[in-house]
Amino acid sequence: MQKRLIEQFSPDQVFHGLLAGEGFSSRVGAACIYHCPRCRHRIRFRWQSFYQWDGASCFTRARRRRFDDMTPALAAEEQGAFDFFCPTCGAPTRIIFSANRQGIAAYQFDLYAALVGAGALT
Ligand SMILES: [Zn+2]
Repeated sequence: MQKRLIEQFSPDQVFHGLLAGEGFSSRVGAACIYHCPRCRHRIRFRWQSFYQWDGASCFTRARRRRFDDMTPALAAEEQGAFDFFCPTCGAPTRIIFSANRQGIAAYQFDLYAALVGAGALT
């Protein structure tokens, strides 16, 4: 059996500290903690991390395309994909989120999934 190189994880599998309420789940509050499913490295994300996301990716074009193939289009005003490499195991990781404006200057960020490569070469 061939091992899939990029796996999809739901937010509750890899994040702690997300908010849930009536009509929403996996919402970013002030901060949340991401646990790399490969090595358990922890990364703290703040609401500002998503707010300041500029759309840039550190992935090569070929890798970005592989991740794009697995990234769905969400029903959201805006959609983001946070690309980074795990600092400990090097796994390429993409966090898919939606951004919806709430009021004049406030945004709500709801996480959809994390795509995690098998290793640094994925
Ligand atoms: Zn890792």
